[in-house]
Amino acid sequence: MHEMSIAQSILDIIFQESQNHKVSRVLSVSLKLGELSAVQSESLRFCFELLSKGTLAEGAKLDIERVQVTCQCQECGSKFTVQELVFTCPSCNSPKIDMLSGRELSVESFEGE
Ligand SMILES: [Zn+2]
Repeated sequence: MHEMSIAQSILDIIFQESQNHKVSRVLSVSLKLGELSAVQSESLRFCFELLSKGTLAEGAKLDIERVQVTCQCQECGSKFTVQELVFTCPSCNSPKIDMLSGRELSVESFEGE
């Protein structure tokens, strides 16, 4: 499962950081999740819960922020948010666009003690 390996890599980051900061228990984790990363928040929560059992991250609260897909048109320079995955410029209909955000999958911060 896609979410399982993502949950594992999130935990790897947390374990590494916990060691660096001498954290013995993780309370909450803030994640940024791009709409295009194709990750279901609920199934990510489920996998995280499963994998964190018995670790210092057990019971940690997952704070998931969804990041919208934003693009910039190469022709007219307008920036826009992609709705329903239509990748053309709403101003000039050009298909030549650059993606600015939407693929994020990152651990922004976490709280521990
Ligand atoms: Zn345009």
